[in-house]
Amino acid sequence: MAEKKIPYKIYLEENEMPKAWYNVRADMKTKPAPLLNPGTHEPMGAADLAPVFCEELIAQELNNDDPFIPIPQEIADFYKMYRPSPLVRAYCLEEKLQTPAKIYYKFEGNNTSGSHKLNSAIAQAYYAKKQGLKGVTTETGAGQWGTALSMACSYFGLDCKVFMVKVSYEQKPFRREVMRTYGASVTPSPSMETAVGRKILEEFPGTTGSLGCAISEAVEVATSTEGYRYVLGSVLNQVLLHQSVIGLETKAALDKYGIKPDMIIGCAGGGSNLGGLIAPFMGEKLRGEADYRIIAVEPQSCPSFTRGKYAYDFCDTGMVCPLAKMYTLGSGFIPAPNHAGGLRYHGMSPVLSQLYDDGYMEAVAVPQTAVFEAAEQFARVEGILPAPESSHAIKVAIDEAMKCKETGEEKTIVFGLTGTGYFDMTAYEKFHDGKMDDYIPTDEELQTYFDKLPKVD
Ligand SMILES: *Cc1c(COP(=O)(O)O)cnc(C)c1O
Repeated sequence: MAEKKIPYKIYLEENEMPKAWYNVRADMKTKPAPLLNPGTHEPMGAADLAPVFCEELIAQELNNDDPFIPIPQEIADFYKMYRPSPLVRAYCLEEKLQTPAKIYYKFEGNNTSGSHKLNSAIAQAYYAKKQGLKGVTTETGAGQWGTALSMACSYFGLDCKVFMVKVSYEQKPFRREVMRTYGASVTPSPSMETAVGRKILEEFPGTTGSLGCAISEAVEVATSTEGYRYVLGSVLNQVLLHQSVIGLETKAALDKYGIKPDMIIGCAGGGSNLGGLIAPFMGEKLRGEADYRIIAVEPQSCPSFTRGKYAYDFCDTGMVCPLAKMYTLGSGFIPAPNHAGGLRYHGMSPVLSQLYDDGYMEAVAVPQTAVFEAAEQFARVEGILPAPESSHAIKVAIDEAMKCKETGEEKTIVFGLTGTGYFDMTAYEKFHDGKMDDYIPTDEELQTYFDKLPKVD
């Protein structure tokens, strides 16, 4: 009966909202490895990064010491438009699965960008504006980051130039139009507008592009245009920092009802939602105050954690960005064209990479048809059409709940539902038509990319 007191959706009051982001690096004994200059392999300091990134974001990127960084009032005010996001008890899913497990999900899809990406986009646009910049450049794959950044830039009156991976530009015209609605310019990548784009097109005519290539183009434009800087929607330490609002809200909501999760599950592309969701829980784990199972879920077609190497690598195809030490499949890796479910970046957040390497978290890779089965199962009972990316977490949450059914254990599972899938209906269509398959790269294929990792000693 006590059970019933927990509402379907737990919302926080305004005065319970986080006032500062939590920086998990402060509690890590082994800090994530520094970014290196791609030419000299020397660690990059603030001055080296200044031509590419905004000043205050660089400070956050390099800050391994302060556990809390206050959220500026303008950003907190913007957050109030769409936060707190609900922590939902998945009663209907539990009922459907007939599991004794208690399942909760933190839903980040309740804003026009349809994902958690707005949490960092608004922060990055704010700091760019504060620095007096004219605009920012970025890349987008599936389009969620580009959408979120376009919204944030229009809010602060900044120009926004988005390089969109060509295959998505062509397959997702509606995403593109949302970005243009917010005033962004959207260029299919690779393009003829940049030297690196022209070079890639010459080498691989007809290429449908990749995130790594779009990043190179966006960086080139930012560094060669007065008053512009480059911003990135995942992977970087600063992005995980901003996304900690997800975890802080989740923890506050659970604490409010005295709920202690046994496991926390999130999908992992570049690691930003997962890093944000787990941050305060990981902090407790690092400080020895509590223990949780923390599970990253990735696609079998792009298995950075489970089959990648922990090594310094390029963040982009054009090799113009700093080198980051991370779990990586190699910067040349491009997931097979039949890969529909998002999460297609070759590398992984350096923070999460270090935590994974130190044994603080687990990772599993799942096949894409199983992900869409889980997505459909979830959509039918929970009233949200999930993004394919988010559905990786759903898949493993369901698997864990089914294990509880076998053992009779009443475990508490929390997972991140990062967004909605309304712009992904082509992928759903493939699934429904039986045209989706489970591509898994071979060891030989991966080795060709590992062979090209930069040699750093
Ligand atoms: C971008 C995105 C992801 C993956 O990115 P992370 O940085 O790993 O969080 C997951 N879900 C949705 C809905 C996204 O838009």
